[in-house]
Amino acid sequence: MKIHCRVKLGRQRLGTFLTDVLMNEILHGADGTSIKCGVIGEIGCSWPLTESEKKVLQATAHAQAQLGCPVIIHPGRSSRAPFQIIRILQEAGADISKTVMSHLDRTILDKKELLEFAQLGCYLEYDLFGTELLHYQLCPDIDMPDDNKRIRRVRLLVEEGYEDRILVAHDIHTKTRLMKYGGHGYSHILTNVVPKMLLRGITENVLDKILIENPKQWLTFK
Ligand SMILES: [Zn+2]
Repeated sequence: MKIHCRVKLGRQRLGTFLTDVLMNEILHGADGTSIKCGVIGEIGCSWPLTESEKKVLQATAHAQAQLGCPVIIHPGRSSRAPFQIIRILQEAGADISKTVMSHLDRTILDKKELLEFAQLGCYLEYDLFGTELLHYQLCPDIDMPDDNKRIRRVRLLVEEGYEDRILVAHDIHTKTRLMKYGGHGYSHILTNVVPKMLLRGITENVLDKILIENPKQWLTFK
């Protein structure tokens, strides 16, 4: 469908159109190829959330309700953002248990608020391992935690019974994060973070869940 047709679509039809696009890329293939997507996401959200982002979240929920597929969300930079996003997804019929909230490291810093959010039942992702910044350019109000603090947060969630809901990643999105350019590279979690997690009392059994079982469960269609 050409762009000018999309502009003419009404509110209801635009939602259906977006859902169809998402479903088509999973069932038949993306961008005119036969390569099928295995995940919807990462759905980018701003803070405050824009109207069009809300429509994309609703379309995502509608597609997920029909396909049982994994979903991953990039929340806006406010601790209120993940709560709002989960509510919108829930109201539109999403399966929250198959949804990942990414970048929690920089989004929910308060312990109490984090545990309140964990109760909503989505996957809780700490995915900025290797990112240690004094000044977080994208939001100077946030004190970006370091890896030790991330590990303490993961341990807190384990202690509170959320070991089946935790995911970790590197979110490598710039050349400087690669080893070739002086960064930690893709082996950082396995080489450096896991030994430190073990030292801090996160057991091998729990680590197997975080590194193997939880990603496997999330990525399996229902
Ligand atoms: Zn992201």
